Amino acid sequence: MIKRQTTINRIFKVSGIGLHSGSEVTLEFLPRREFGIAFVYKGELIPARYDMVGDTRLSTQIGCNGVNVSTIEHLMAALYFSGITNCLVYINGPEVPILDGSAWEFYQGMWKAGVYEFPETEVYLKVLRPVEVHHNDSWVKAKPLNTLEITMSIEFRPPVGKQKKRVMDVENAFSIINSRTFVLQEEIEAIRKIGLAKGGSLDNAVVIGSDDIMNPLGLRYKKELVNHKILDLIGDLYTSGYRILGKIEAHKTGHYLNNLFLKELFSDPKNYSLY
Ligand SMILES: [Zn+2]
Repeated sequence: MIKRQTTINRIFKVSGIGLHSGSEVTLEFLPRREFGIAFVYKGELIPARYDMVGDTRLSTQIGCNGVNVSTIEHLMAALYFSGITNCLVYINGPEVPILDGSAWEFYQGMWKAGVYEFPETEVYLKVLRPVEVHHNDSWVKAKPLNTLEITMSIEFRPPVGKQKKRVMDVENAFSIINSRTFVLQEEIEAIRKIGLAKGGSLDNAVVIGSDDIMNPLGLRYKKELVNHKILDLIGDLYTSGYRILGKIEAHKTGHYLNNLFLKELFSDPKNYSLY
């Protein structure tokens, strides 16, 4: 377990296209002495925190004084898995690149950069009593536990159907990191109509056809799709600013509900303690 505040040991860059904007973006990761993760775009410092989250339709967007950065969730999950608590992310466009659709390349960059430890602690948030949120037929529930455990269930039309996965030791669940984002073939047209997914292709998303996966190499894991939903949840939970400890169960959740969960969690200081 990570005990202290940490940052990256050296600067590194990652470039790629945004899934929704389709435009090329470069990120530069810099060490940070202050606690927390923050983006810098157009000279604006935007803390990657749940109370800065705006649009949650197809990705998690944060913003400050009218300057927004979207699709932060996979990058946030990579920071979580790397154990990095303090980092500045300079970005030269409004959307974090999608890369291969997972958190893999970010994680690799962080791993190569290495981790620098500060003396300060208080990086964990422990859930002290049950907290839950619902929206239509989806929900997120948390109960006290000394580690982070996530149980996720999803339900889509065939050939996906129902999938469920329980991850007991999330900090070391490495099959989550390179599980890719996915979309149903029939949804692509609707998403493009609202001006999103311009950069989407079989290179950065799993596309679910009417009776099979359309990517030539198929899935990376049998449970890649539910794994990816766990990846999104981990990234979104890290906008709490802390490494959450608790037993979390989620059903058909998405970025909106993940954010609502954090708002509910922080609405009463009796719900949690920091250490
Ligand atoms: Zn995702």
